[in-house]
Amino acid sequence: MAGKTDIGPPDFRNFLPPVIKNNYGKWKYHEIVRPGVLLHVAESGDKIWSVRVGGARLVCTDRIREYAEIADKFCDGHLRFTSRHNVEFLVVDESQLEPLIKDLGERGYPIGGTGASITSIVHTQGWVHCHTPATDASGVVKSVMDALFEHFVNMDLPAQVRIALACCLNMCGAVHCSDIAILGIHRLPPVVKNDKLPKVCEVPSTISSCPTLAIKPDPKTKGVQVNDERCMYCGNCYTMCPAMPLMDPEGDGISLWVGGKVSNARSGPAFSKLAVPYLPNTPPRWPEVVEAVKKIVDVYAEGANKHERIGEWIDRIGWEKFFERTGFEFTDKHIDDFTLAQLTLRNTTQFKW
Ligand code: SF4
Ligand code: SF4
Repeated sequence: MAGKTDIGPPDFRNFLPPVIKNNYGKWKYHEIVRPGVLLHVAESGDKIWSVRVGGARLVCTDRIREYAEIADKFCDGHLRFTSRHNVEFLVVDESQLEPLIKDLGERGYPIGGTGASITSIVHTQGWVHCHTPATDASGVVKSVMDALFEHFVNMDLPAQVRIALACCLNMCGAVHCSDIAILGIHRLPPVVKNDKLPKVCEVPSTISSCPTLAIKPDPKTKGVQVNDERCMYCGNCYTMCPAMPLMDPEGDGISLWVGGKVSNARSGPAFSKLAVPYLPNTPPRWPEVVEAVKKIVDVYAEGANKHERIGEWIDRIGWEKFFERTGFEFTDKHIDDFTLAQLTLRNTTQFKW
């Protein structure tokens, strides 16, 4: 085939269900038939139903084989994975819809995550795989989602609530723009092991890996020194140099951020803002984090208007009310003191008490 290479992912067009290929770019509208079931209708009149099943980011081959078996039985083999780790079974033959839903129910797969619900949490590698995490990913996500499960299968919130988790501030997850963001944070600079560093690391590239210029050479040891005042605990240096670990069982923990979104509906996309600066790492169920996230969801569900995302709700009631209603403490950590902070500081008298 022209242009075919042996590297990179295969062309997605080779895997589209025929109905999507035939109607590509010509879809007229879609609707949510019931929680977790979307119907897309094309200009040609063709229809396709997507049945969304809650999934996980890390799945075993047995699970994938089971998904494939279900898709073969009801969907001519067609399914897709969403960016938030759900699985969508794509049904063209309407008579297969109810049998599919019944079969999924019997297997214990939850159907939901559409519209004004909480869909699965997009997350990063955590302790399973990455080298710089300040917290776990899958463990926290499982604990939080267990507490919010009813909002996955029911569209009972004012609007959709997107939750993301990144296990360090390099954030391979979408924590910068999610309604609720769970972000692992380190709170101490890296430990510099200069007895090993010159033997295992390149000093110039280690120095240049630091975005805040906190690292300089240490002529005595032929290693490096870190200016703690300039360090923002990002872990970039540890990525370059294994002799600068910054994992710390006591200092590492979780911060919570709120009000971000990507959508352009009603208001523009927005960054998430700090709500809780630190919660401890308490595996295996992270009760403090679960309680705080649930609190945000509960007060939002109680106070927001229909269609209002979390950020829009906070903008309407004011941050003072947000802290009052959630009971979260407002601390000095909430005040932006980084470069260009003036742009983010409120500099009018428009307080909303
Ligand atoms: Fe690794 Fe940080 Fe990405 Fe987590 S967010 S997977 S710790 S780089
Ligand atoms: Fe620089 Fe980040 Fe390393 Fe701190 S943790 S010294 S900010 S690279």
